Amino acid sequence: MSPKPKSSIVVTIDGPAASGKSTTARRLARLLGWMYLDTGAMYRAMTVKVLDHHIPLEDTEAISRLAETTEINLISTSNETRVWIDGIDRTDEIRNPAVDRAVGPVCEVPRVRELMVGFQRRLAEKRCLIAEGRDMGTVVFPGADLKFFMVASVEERTQRRQKDMLKQNIQISLKELEAEIRKRDERDSRRSQSPLKPAEDAVLVDTTRLTPEEQVDLILKHIQNITAGMEHSGPK
Ligand code: C5P
Repeated sequence: MSPKPKSSIVVTIDGPAASGKSTTARRLARLLGWMYLDTGAMYRAMTVKVLDHHIPLEDTEAISRLAETTEINLISTSNETRVWIDGIDRTDEIRNPAVDRAVGPVCEVPRVRELMVGFQRRLAEKRCLIAEGRDMGTVVFPGADLKFFMVASVEERTQRRQKDMLKQNIQISLKELEAEIRKRDERDSRRSQSPLKPAEDAVLVDTTRLTPEEQVDLILKHIQNITAGMEHSGPK
């Protein structure tokens, strides 16, 4: 039988904050020459704009209107994704603690999700990509070729997040960070809009004791298994 022709392959990686999704997805995309889609960065960018405009987080109508006129662009290089909001590079601001605190309410606004999901699906057209977020396998790409759900202990995730923050010269105690992570996990899991949960057909990966290299290898093997039976258009 001839290989199945395929112009796009979608691999999704979902999971809670600091579970290893970004590191793994970015490295995989680089190795394979595929696109890396960081959907958390999109919701964070929208949150930066809401904070710029001092819109109260409960004013969902004003946030919806603002989303209609906001242009978000993700520009990926081999090492990182730069995030542009209305033509300005705001990458350095999207992971501030103020954004961590406000992103929950902003990403729950239905119109915000609708716009972001449309954007995410358009980016996936005729491309091979690794999409990372909370609802990639359940809502945005339910027909993805492969789905992963990453988890790790909250202690391990807190330490990873502190390392990331220190790289940005932001000092926060482990106690404060753990509380923030727990709060965000809880909010992401309990919301009615696209809650954080594994897709039924997702492969569960516990990264607590895995190195980034081991995480990448594990997922790469799954990808190689499925691509062996396909003929796809190669790196995009
Ligand atoms: O992945 P990251 O921590 O950057 O995501 C920031 C926040 O954006 C998450 O806590 C979650 O509330 C929201 N998010 C989402 N859906 C996605 C990606 C992120 O609701 N697909």
